[in-house]
Amino acid sequence: MATIIRNRKAGKINLGLMGGTFDPIHLGHLVSAEEARQQFDLDYVVFVPAGIPPHKERSKVSDPEHRYLMTTLAVMSNPAFIVSRFEVDREVPSYTIDTVRHFAEQEAYEANIYFITGADAILEILTWKDYTALLDLCTFIAVTRPGYSLERLEEIQKSLPGIMNKVHLLEIPALAISSTYIRERVALGKTIKYLTPEPVEQYIKKQRLYING
Ligand code: ATP
Ligand code: MG
Repeated sequence: MATIIRNRKAGKINLGLMGGTFDPIHLGHLVSAEEARQQFDLDYVVFVPAGIPPHKERSKVSDPEHRYLMTTLAVMSNPAFIVSRFEVDREVPSYTIDTVRHFAEQEAYEANIYFITGADAILEILTWKDYTALLDLCTFIAVTRPGYSLERLEEIQKSLPGIMNKVHLLEIPALAISSTYIRERVALGKTIKYLTPEPVEQYIKKQRLYING
């Protein structure tokens, strides 16, 4: 991955990171990343599928290789989008700080790091005990997500003045899609066409993912 970046551009780059379980990746993720890319002039957005998600029960999450492959299929048509195996290849649970540090400390390039999250995930991150270390390493782009209010973020902002220089809110076209919703639809035999890119839809069918919930 470092090679891809080094070969494409010299000097300091703006690097977006988007972490997630991506079980499966869907248009909500892709629209968020693309809007962030444009608004913040990001050279690349790196999607980082979680290996063993710290907050989710392992047995209920699809194999990392399935999630990695679906993410790769989903980003094929966007030259600025890259998928990283960093978390998938680690044997220990990955925390955001480890991932951000990994991309911040690469020697192959120098980067301003932007971590892209939905309105739900940003609240988890900012209530994490060591979030200040994270804010030293990156800027957050918190995208709006239907069903999740950003009121609590405003409260946090009041109690921690200055934080908003490091946390930007970004309005994206509302997409009330979640991976949970897609998995539920597959289990019920309902169509998922247009909720995720077609190659991902076909991969889910071929591998018979989610049919048992
Ligand atoms: P699940 O239902 O399994 O939790 P999810 O749809 O929330 O899946 P994740 O992989 O958990 O997807 O999320 C990865 C990141 O993408 C998180 O920061 C999350 O907030 C964000 N995100 C997911 N769906 C949307 C959406 N529709 N709009 C904006 N952000 C989203
Ligand atoms: Mg989620």
